[in-house]
Formats: sequence, structure tokens, C-alpha cells
Amino acid sequence: MARPARKSRSSNGRMSASSDFRMRVRMYRHGLGDCFLLTFPRAGQAPFQILIDCGALHRNAAEMTALVEEIRDTIKRENGSENARLDVVVGTHEHKDHLSGFNQARDIFENEFDFGEVWLAWTEDLSQKEIMAIKKARRKAAEKIREVMRLNANLAASLDDVSSLMAFSADDDDGVGTQKVSDALEYLKERGRRRGSKLRFLKPGEEPRALKDVDDVRVFVLGPPLDPILLKSSEVTEAMKRDGTIYHLASSGLSGVEALAAAARAPDDPLALQAQPFSSAVSKKNFKKAPNYEKEPWRRIDGDWMSAFGQLALDLDNDTNNSSLVLAFEFESTGEVLLFAADAQVGSWLSWRKLNLKDGRKEMPALELLGRTVFYKVGHHCSHNATLRNNGLELMQDDRLVAFIPLDVETARKQGTKGWEMPAKPLLKALKKHTGDKVVISDASAKNPVSAEAHKAGVVATDTYIDYVLR
Ligand SMILES: [Zn+2]
Repeated sequence: MARPARKSRSSNGRMSASSDFRMRVRMYRHGLGDCFLLTFPRAGQAPFQILIDCGALHRNAAEMTALVEEIRDTIKRENGSENARLDVVVGTHEHKDHLSGFNQARDIFENEFDFGEVWLAWTEDLSQKEIMAIKKARRKAAEKIREVMRLNANLAASLDDVSSLMAFSADDDDGVGTQKVSDALEYLKERGRRRGSKLRFLKPGEEPRALKDVDDVRVFVLGPPLDPILLKSSEVTEAMKRDGTIYHLASSGLSGVEALAAAARAPDDPLALQAQPFSSAVSKKNFKKAPNYEKEPWRRIDGDWMSAFGQLALDLDNDTNNSSLVLAFEFESTGEVLLFAADAQVGSWLSWRKLNLKDGRKEMPALELLGRTVFYKVGHHCSHNATLRNNGLELMQDDRLVAFIPLDVETARKQGTKGWEMPAKPLLKALKKHTGDKVVISDASAKNPVSAEAHKAGVVATDTYIDYVLR
């Protein structure tokens, strides 16, 4: 297939009419969290700029402000404009490591950025009663957990695992912030409703979206799933172990997965049930006590006495991850796909098996996109249950495949009593195999550099970001 003509950058730094690439994905290296700038050159005008998320765990306002200033300056330079225009701002889900920057650097977003459209998942559309009820129940449950933690401050050590899980939905990280993640989300909605902007709640299976004046690209929505059971599902079942649905832990064998299966189900705790307005069938009866949490250290909750709260914390965290907006950018003429899975868990991936996407007058199975994927933004910082094996990574067979993992390993290691296993080793191994060693972690260092293979495939690293350039 013919590619667009290549022209170079003009002398003033502004990206010229058409550039020497078709798309650039910029992953920022700001910590454990997602922040991606997608840039599409356009003929005769400023490039189309999309920001997908802007957040981190354990980063203060000064650090996030520096990040947002960097984004601002990049866009101003490339667009040659007074304000930094983001044609689309995507907030994938209500977790701090994806949205905190919209609180912590609010002034800059407010005064120096223009927003075109704001894209959120359909699960954020609170004008729908059912969604409102779920959100309310979740917030109430989260408050309860925090209350228990406050009342038992003397047992801080045993609460470590829960409190690090709860950090995803906690207030901002420093004194400036009394702001909550929900405030960041509300801010995005409010920006999308302003004159000149547009707020969109996206659903899987809808017509693909076009990007204004970007030829050849369309955007498919794969998640969050419409099926309420799959929307809630982060659990790993017996069947999944048998048929290799996930990459389970080679070192721990069944016990680790067993532990996860137990951990992913809800106890008969009224609070837990309250937090699960959708399907009691999936969660109510199957609770089993985990024989051994040792191999899933970041999921292990110390202390039986508080297992219900720990369980609830896990459920809340997983449910929110599963409400991630999953986007696939497709170059229509070449078929290349760039997949942004946010933090989607098992349930979202499973839903793609039955999802048919609108493709003009035809329908296209969603999984077909995976076979053409050349760039994969790895789900949930490479935790083990956020990338499916069969009907997932195994379908990504394109030799050009590059995988980006936004992750600060040190921060992950400090969470809970034993640290979170990010990246999950079996998954990282599988990713390396599938990509031919083109896996790039945002905290790449001199000790752990970007591979020569990734460089060859168009990956360029600086201290502040790592680019994937599709030429
Ligand atoms: Zn995340």
C-alpha cells in the first residue's frame, strides 16, 4: 500500500504540512501511571493531538506540573499556536494513576490548553440511572474502607496492602490536593461540555470515529464491555487456568491462580454486595478461602479479621479497571492497528470475542484487529490478569509488534507489604517473545535499556519520554 509522501519539518519547529511519519506515540516517563500523547500530522494544518490519560501514583503536584508543561510546550511548538490544543482528551477510567494530572496541574490545563473533544467510557455517563447507582455504591464502599483504616491506625502494618490498593482512588499526593480522582473526571466532563468542545461517552460496537482531517485513520471502541457480567469480571476461573486464558504464574503454578481466583470473588459481606449492584450470580456464592497468597504478593491482604475489607478493596479496584475505555486506532489502507488497553482486565478482553465492529456496511469481529496490531499499550502496567493469552496476545502475530509498558518498577515494588508484581514475569516473557524483544518499559534505564530491536522499529528514548514513530 502506498504511504503518504514524506516532507520534512519547517525551520520554525512547527510540524509541516506533512511530516516524515504518519503517527507518533509518546509515552511519558513520569512514574507509575499512564500519560500518552498521540500525534498525527495533517496536510496544511497543525497536527491532530490526542492525550490519553495524565496521571501517576505517588507523584506530587510539582512533578505532574512539570510533565504537563512539557506536553504544553511540545504542542505549542508543533502546532505553532498560542494555546496548546488537544483535539481529543481521553480519560480512560477513574484511577489516580491515569487522571491525577488533571487535578495537580489544573491551572495549566485550564489556562493554557484548548480542548476539542473529551472521550470517556459509557460507564461514566451519570445521566443513566443504573450507572449512577453503581458509582454511588462504589464511592460509599470506598469511604467505608477508608473509615475502617482510619479507626485502626494502630494496625497500620496489616493495612498496608489495602491502603496501597486504595491509593488508586485516593486524594492527590501532596498538601495542595484535597482533590479526588472523581474531581479530575468531573473536570474532564465539564471541559467537554464547554462551548467549542464536545463530550462523548463511547461504547463498543459503535461506528468507528474519524479524526478530523486525518486521512486513513479510524478509531474503534472495544471496551468497557456492555455485558454487565463481563464488566465486573476480573476473576480467573478454573476453566481459564485449564485453557490458558491468562498467563499464569509459572513459578507458583496453580496455587497462585487459586489465590487470585479466591481474591477476585466477593465474600458475603453486605458492603461488598452493596458495591455490586449488577450480578450477584458472579460474585455471591463462590467465595473460597485462598490456600496461599504468597505467590500473588501484591494481592495478598494480611489479617483474616479484615479480609472482607481487603476483598472489597480488591473488587473496587478491579471493577474500576474493567471500566477502562479501550481504543484501537486503525490505518485503513495498511490495516495497521495500535491498541490502547488502558487497565482493562479479563472481563473486557473476553467480551471482544463476541464483539462485532461496524465497518461500513459490513461487520468485523473485534479480534480481527489483534492480528493486525503493530503497537500494544500493555494493560494495567503489565500485571498478569490484564492481558489475555488465548484470544489476546496469542493473536498478535504481526512481526512489527511493539509493546509499551508505562511503569515505574520501584514504585510498584514499594506497594503493600511485599510489593506488586509489575511487570508480571510470565507476561513480560510472552511479550518479549511476541514482539521479538521490542518491549519498552517507561522506566528504562542504563541498566535496563531500550533494546536494539525496539530502536530499529522506530522507538526513540529521551529522559522525559519514549516515542514510537510509525513511518
Ligand atoms: Zn493504571
